[in-house]
Amino acid sequence: MTKKSIGWKFDNTYQKLPNIMLSKINPEKIAEPKLIIKNDDVSKLLGLNFIGYNDNELALLFSGNNLPEGTETIAQAYAGHQFGHFNILGDGRALILGEHITPKNKRYDLQFKGSGKTPYSRNGDGKAALGPMLREYIISEAMFRLNIPTSRSLAVVITGEKIIREKELPGAILTRVAESHIRVGTFQFVAFQQDLKSLKILLDYTINRHYKELEKSLSPALSLLKTVMTKQIDLIINWMRVGFIHGVMNTDNMTISGETIDYGPCAFMDIYNPKTVFSSIDYSGRYAFNNQPIIAQWNLLRFAECLLPFIDEDQSKAIKIAEETINEFSEIFKKKWIKMMCNKLGLIREDEADEKLINDLLTLMYQNKLDYTSTFAELSELKIPKNISLKNWYDEWKKRLEDNKHNNDDIKKIMKENNPRIIPRNHNVEKVIEEAYSNNYESFKKLLEAIKNPYSKNEKFRDFELEPKKINDQYQTFCGT
Ligand code: AMP
Ligand code: MG
Repeated sequence: MTKKSIGWKFDNTYQKLPNIMLSKINPEKIAEPKLIIKNDDVSKLLGLNFIGYNDNELALLFSGNNLPEGTETIAQAYAGHQFGHFNILGDGRALILGEHITPKNKRYDLQFKGSGKTPYSRNGDGKAALGPMLREYIISEAMFRLNIPTSRSLAVVITGEKIIREKELPGAILTRVAESHIRVGTFQFVAFQQDLKSLKILLDYTINRHYKELEKSLSPALSLLKTVMTKQIDLIINWMRVGFIHGVMNTDNMTISGETIDYGPCAFMDIYNPKTVFSSIDYSGRYAFNNQPIIAQWNLLRFAECLLPFIDEDQSKAIKIAEETINEFSEIFKKKWIKMMCNKLGLIREDEADEKLINDLLTLMYQNKLDYTSTFAELSELKIPKNISLKNWYDEWKKRLEDNKHNNDDIKKIMKENNPRIIPRNHNVEKVIEEAYSNNYESFKKLLEAIKNPYSKNEKFRDFELEPKKINDQYQTFCGT
């Protein structure tokens, strides 16, 4: 009996872009791939059906040993400001398989991460360790469930190979899915070549792929800049809503589609401290929790620089227009941030005094080392918080809620939609990774179940709501692992 087809439908367009933008390259053969997990929800989203395929066959597929028909593997070239310094980069350990079209006619990049060296690997080995790939799987899935634009994770395989990090670790490949991997750094790469023709091709391609409605606008380049700015503002507001710190907001990790990508040293904050940084190499706190909007704005300015030739022929005019646009960032961000925090506090009708009420709470949370997620989850019950330090603030807030002229059910509803109970807390993620290194995936699977409904109360997953028993203000995460 012949097997049912999986349902792949590749239509690769990036491969047709100018040669400088990519390298056609095959994945390295993997000696002993073994499937760790496949994501049935993402399979469904893509319209793929793996029924009838055993784990061995899937391991061959998700290791790149048996590529589906229609794939044309490439590594993408890009540049980027890493911690403020410009570098020529590119997919050093990732490969795009191609663009898959879903039955609903949506286009997604499929990408392997950890699949071996490419022309852009520089001194890297092109590989990834199991722990960081599970981490990306967990956090990207959590972000999706939290209603935040993100790449998704389709599968993880281990390669059977040991890779060298601070110690020997099992190698792994993650298959991830994104609307595209076009980054601010993609534009920077082409702009750096001073190849205006290719830059225009990239601009038109990007608009056509992501924002077709802008094609008819008076200045598509300027419209793209404004649209990407809005997308990035909304994204970072969302990160801050749930206490997420990306950790490495280099321009090469900022997408044009507005999706969160490249989960390296990212983590969710437990105790509220606006200066929280987890990344081991972020000595100056460049990518700290509260710095994320300023960095997004800085990155957008780098994006704007690439678009100048298409904003106006007169360079000084173009600079003026771009600057005026980017200068609007702060005000738009602040308005949206207040709105988001009002949602977290159930403040429906707008009131000028709300900003103070919000900041007073954050100050108290910081001074008293309160957990970001738990504090808001507890307030969402509208009961007096256990922590006595919030007593006076709580009275103020309750008075303010009465002016809302909405009933408690409406208030609770909006709060519960904006305040997660379950995030992938660092101590749980670490436990998953530690156990996985001993070949035990039970905690991994349980955590994945728990993060599926982050906004609901579920006794079964109560443990995942709990703060760590011991405060770990030394918690560190790592890049390029
Ligand atoms: P990231 O901070 O993970 O976004 O990576 C920054 C750059 O380093 C990208 O060009 C990556 O492809 C590259 N890179 C990270 N880890 C490795 C590795 N193990 N081998 C080769 N290139 C890598
Ligand atoms: Mg990256």
